[in-house]
Amino acid sequence: MRSSSVNQNILKVLTQDQSHLTAQQIYEQIRDNLPAVNPSTVYRALERLAHAGQVSVSDMGQGYAVYEMVGGEQHHHLVCQDCARVTTIDEKIVHNLFDNIGQKYDFQVCTNHLILFGRCPECQKMAERQMEEGVDR
Ligand SMILES: [Zn+2]
Ligand SMILES: [Zn+2]
Repeated sequence: MRSSSVNQNILKVLTQDQSHLTAQQIYEQIRDNLPAVNPSTVYRALERLAHAGQVSVSDMGQGYAVYEMVGGEQHHHLVCQDCARVTTIDEKIVHNLFDNIGQKYDFQVCTNHLILFGRCPECQKMAERQMEEGVDR
């Protein structure tokens, strides 16, 4: 198996799917095209691509890395630490924040994938209810 064709397949999968994919999910999609490929070949290729700056690696708080194409639309997320729900933040809000930071600190923010951890509305409600009922988790 030539590694270049594995690389090409990875980039194709990431280009087609604009969301975040785990190494396992990428492997499963590539396997349809290249049935003989083994997972460790895909994982190593992903590491090389990330190192070369062609794909980005993020920790979305679930304890594993997710990969996506570099150079796509900038986007930022809110990730619920309780249920792992991912919400994309309105680009304008983040743009204003980065603008303000730029003006105040003369600092050009290059982060193109900001992830803020917290608690989604449903989990906040759940937590409140548990507080009221005095239930220990
Ligand atoms: Zn993302
Ligand atoms: Zn939640």
